[in-house]
Amino acid sequence: MTIQEQYELLEKTVRGYNPSADFTRIRAAFDFAQKSHEGQKRKSGEPYIIHPLAVAQIVAEELKLDSESIEAALLHDVIEDTPATHAEVAKLFSPTIADLVEGVSKLTRIQYATKEDEQMENLRKMLIAMSKDIRVILIKIADRLHNMRTMEYQSPAKQKQKSLETMEIYAPISHRLGMQRIKWELEDLSLKYLDPVGYEEIVTNLDSKRQEYDAFMSRTQAQIDQRLTQLGISHVVYGRVKHPYSIYRKMFNQNKSLNEIFDLFAFRVIVDTVGDCYNVLGVVHDIYKPILGRFKDYIGTPKPNGYQSLHTTVMGGDGIPFEVQIRTREMHEIAEYGVAAHWKYKQNGQGAGTEGRYEWVRRLLENQEGADAEDFIHSLKVDMFSDEVFVFTPNGDVQNLPAGATPIDFAYAIHSAVGNRMVGAKVNGRIVTFDHTLKNGDIVEILTSKNAKGPGRDWMKIAKSSEARSKIRQWFKKEKKEENIANGRAAFEAELKHCGIPMRDVISAENLPGLLKKVSYASLDEMYAAIGYGGFTAQKAVSRMQGELQRIAKHQQAERQAAAEAAEARTAEEAPKAPAPKRVRSEQGIIVEGLDNCLVKFSKCCTPVPGDEIVGFITRGYGVSVHRADCPNASPEKQNAPGQQGRWIKVSWGSDTNDSYPTTLEVVCKDRQGLLLDISAALSTTNTFVLGIHSRSTADEFAIFRLEVRMRDSQQLTTLMNRLHQISGVLKVTRPAG
Ligand code: MN
Repeated sequence: MTIQEQYELLEKTVRGYNPSADFTRIRAAFDFAQKSHEGQKRKSGEPYIIHPLAVAQIVAEELKLDSESIEAALLHDVIEDTPATHAEVAKLFSPTIADLVEGVSKLTRIQYATKEDEQMENLRKMLIAMSKDIRVILIKIADRLHNMRTMEYQSPAKQKQKSLETMEIYAPISHRLGMQRIKWELEDLSLKYLDPVGYEEIVTNLDSKRQEYDAFMSRTQAQIDQRLTQLGISHVVYGRVKHPYSIYRKMFNQNKSLNEIFDLFAFRVIVDTVGDCYNVLGVVHDIYKPILGRFKDYIGTPKPNGYQSLHTTVMGGDGIPFEVQIRTREMHEIAEYGVAAHWKYKQNGQGAGTEGRYEWVRRLLENQEGADAEDFIHSLKVDMFSDEVFVFTPNGDVQNLPAGATPIDFAYAIHSAVGNRMVGAKVNGRIVTFDHTLKNGDIVEILTSKNAKGPGRDWMKIAKSSEARSKIRQWFKKEKKEENIANGRAAFEAELKHCGIPMRDVISAENLPGLLKKVSYASLDEMYAAIGYGGFTAQKAVSRMQGELQRIAKHQQAERQAAAEAAEARTAEEAPKAPAPKRVRSEQGIIVEGLDNCLVKFSKCCTPVPGDEIVGFITRGYGVSVHRADCPNASPEKQNAPGQQGRWIKVSWGSDTNDSYPTTLEVVCKDRQGLLLDISAALSTTNTFVLGIHSRSTADEFAIFRLEVRMRDSQQLTTLMNRLHQISGVLKVTRPAG
């Protein structure tokens, strides 16, 4: 095909889906690109213009993007590779097109070395963040696709490098953007260079069985087609053999040969309505035997990238299993073209109902929010990653910081020692102030000195990341301990005075342990230090202590009363001598006041763990049963019930508690796929010893999980509860009692 014919094909393709495109301007873009690249050759020896033309063709054919995108695709290499400038393109075409072209060039300039997963993830996010206009990334992907299609002319080293980059960066981005077709092609092309032998094996094998496979597919297709036609369901059905990379991965992961791969074939049925999807599913399950556990309803629960479909695997008549995917036309477009489909809807926005369809896509994307923290499709809304900024270290590593981050945040993200020794910072080679706001793509260098004085107090206000702030706080906490204690003590005493509480009440041997527990510090000095460096406030300390002091006073009164009653009762019954008080020894970590060596058991109703406030109940013959103070079974009503008074007894945790105690948690969630998986992950990342998990679903689509675990203390328990609470769909995490 001549260049002219190639160009005419482009116009024809665009006209096919967008008759109102601006063909004068597309022509002008082509002419300008051709003139600018004049004399340049590709590695294949062809004139360079072949490449931008082919990229524009992909943008039109595969992605069906708007006029501006076609123009930008034609021009995508002029700023990078020819004397043409941003200003010139802006003047000749439009500032938007100039920005698109420059965006693509910027992405071209980034060098990727193979890095760890986290770095990869950051790179992917950064690419998207840097291309403020999502069309930049779409054109860049088309550019990469064409380069991969013509990779044979490059040196073997370059082939490997580009293929790795494609596999690690561009294929995942295409997947995130929901563009399955392009993702597959990128993967297959990369595989061809990364493992030529493996790739060849699969392709040759598939080719040799082509006839057999084709026969099977047309037979099956006809069966489905016939039944659906009989039932009057309007539909399109077709089959395909899975693409080489997906087969390769299955062979590799499952260590199987090509013949052992379970589902080599996939059929797709496309219908008009969601209702029909489920009808077709019924029909398919009627014709073929469904394979248990392989049905997935991505219509009810779409994938995070917006994908919707019903999947099922069935056994064909000749014992060949195959997958069937059922979806509506709209779902199909989203599945094939992803975000590009969203663009298509937008550009046709004038037509009746199209805005509604676009809305639907947008909602679909929005609904995925929080479905997967890693997944960022939802950020495509208006401003992508408006809450994050990506910058480089001088070595080219990517750091991910909150938007508005400063060199202080960057320094502490590298290491607290870097932050604490920072004396200056450079951004893109220039010295900047500490409160300089970092931008995407900045290269940041921190200047340090052994003689640095350490962070200033104002750094806490400048830093945007909680990580930096907490590290700065740590520094003040450690380095200025004496000063902090003195300041904290002064503030605390002033606040006590303000509330009219005498210091002696606080430091009395009887009260102090309880008070410290209330504020969760091991000693007064530690609390003072915390107040001094700002990790805690004097107001909070005093208000918590005040409550505890009141409780202690009340308790003491009640105790005196109970003792008096008990003494009365004893004299009445001539009870044996009371055991010697004050001797304390713990039994399973529990100190029972006034009783040594007594049998202790933990109540099943509220499963207390160290750190919980507890009370004891003297059972008839089974020793002392320990309840949480907030257990309904230990409520004041129960304690004061007739005949119960003398049986409640003060217990506390000793210093020699067991390694762990069994306890129970209840998690109430909105039911969804993968929930149990996420809960298990939370349990495993918190190193929780699990005794059992029971779950039940309610009629209104809620699930209640009962987790039986072993916990060291209430602090570990709180950590686990917080972690569980972060799981998407979890509404409530409670400790059952009563
Ligand atoms: Mn290019």
